[in-house]
Amino acid sequence: MPARIVSIHYVLTDSSGQAIDSSVGGDPFSYLEGSGQIIPGLENAVTVLAVGDKKRIPVAAPDAYGVRDERLIVTVGRDQLPAPEVSVGDRFRGGQEAGARIFTVTAVDKEQVTLDGNHPLAGRDLVFDVEVVAMRPATDEEISHGHAHGPEGHSH
Ligand code: ZN
Repeated sequence: MPARIVSIHYVLTDSSGQAIDSSVGGDPFSYLEGSGQIIPGLENAVTVLAVGDKKRIPVAAPDAYGVRDERLIVTVGRDQLPAPEVSVGDRFRGGQEAGARIFTVTAVDKEQVTLDGNHPLAGRDLVFDVEVVAMRPATDEEISHGHAHGPEGHSH
């Protein structure tokens, strides 16, 4: 089956009902199937839906943003940071190599800073309320770029 561009509206909550994110009121979110643009647990469930379908899709943490890894919580000296003045909640990219992570500052004291390299949604069971807005075949250009183009998607 040729790859498709799928457009959805979604409301994302965690399993306790706390709101996390939503596309409602804005443009639908479009992605290229099979490109890894969205988490696998969500993509697999949407693949079998049709345009107009609405579905509640629970995705457990391991199939969403993964379980939390305590080894990704590190304490470093302020002098090791790109900028010494940081606040709790700041984020920056750590490491030079490909696959560098986004670290979030979780604690700050006079000399040291605690950084958490886990995804902010790691360890959380998620619930997506999805409505399929459109499905169409992907263009050759979209397939070669690995993402959706067009008014609802990425543009150059
Ligand atoms: Zn492109």
